[in-house]
Amino acid sequence: MRLCRFDDNRLGLIDGVSVHDVSPLLSTLPAMRWPVPPGDQLIANLRRLLPDIARHKNSAPAKPLAAVRLLSPVANPSKIIGAPINYKDHIEEAKKDQGIAHGREIKTIGDWGLFLKANSALVGPAEGVALRFPDRRNDHEAELAVIIGKTGSQIPRAQARDYIAGYAIGLDMTVRGPELPSFRKSIDSYAVVGPWLVTKDEIADPNALDFELKVNGETRQKSNTRYLDFNVDRLIEYASSFYTLYPGDIIMTGTPAGVAPVKPGDVMTVDMQGIGRMEVKVRAA
Ligand code: MN
Repeated sequence: MRLCRFDDNRLGLIDGVSVHDVSPLLSTLPAMRWPVPPGDQLIANLRRLLPDIARHKNSAPAKPLAAVRLLSPVANPSKIIGAPINYKDHIEEAKKDQGIAHGREIKTIGDWGLFLKANSALVGPAEGVALRFPDRRNDHEAELAVIIGKTGSQIPRAQARDYIAGYAIGLDMTVRGPELPSFRKSIDSYAVVGPWLVTKDEIADPNALDFELKVNGETRQKSNTRYLDFNVDRLIEYASSFYTLYPGDIIMTGTPAGVAPVKPGDVMTVDMQGIGRMEVKVRAA
């Protein structure tokens, strides 16, 4: 199933080139009072909601997919986790290019650990990326985004798939420079997730997905998640060895070689096997 958040926080079920508006089902989510539990309320209840969504599809009004504004399918993650240097060819390009390395010694993800992107950076594809410092190098990083489905801590990699709700495409936008990654990668709109959430039953193996990023139609990144150093299962084990994972948490799994600058007016297009296509415009902030 492909679920999107669109327009004014509507919930949509995608069927081909149509979006069925199943928003009335959101009223069945439990009422919440302060302090709200960590995590995204929709994703926390998704397993229970999915059969209702399927049942309501045919009675739900449909709009053309091309006519809706796609937001991030997760509205309220407790955190967005990033995986640095997780493809060998990206490690090699980072070692050679001081525009990426900025004097840092490029090691391995096992040496560096993970980083967090601010939740306030999260947008969907329709919102686009607003370059805050257009005079600096602002790079695209196309990545598989894993959406966590239930709370877990110290999850062994053999059980990692039980904790996944689904998958999306992520753009871990980055301003290059000497600052810490969590700062440079947390500018408003620098965490793009979309175009929708594909439930995990639709993707047999997240560690074998072709993907490609183009800028203005020209290929810049092209790889397959089989080249991840820490694959999806190991990333969940690794992240949860430090953090409790909550429903709606997003893991951006890392980017392959080909990272390069974008400028206002550019259009980034990412295709990912099993998920679809996400188009994102770049503008000046
Ligand atoms: Mn990245």
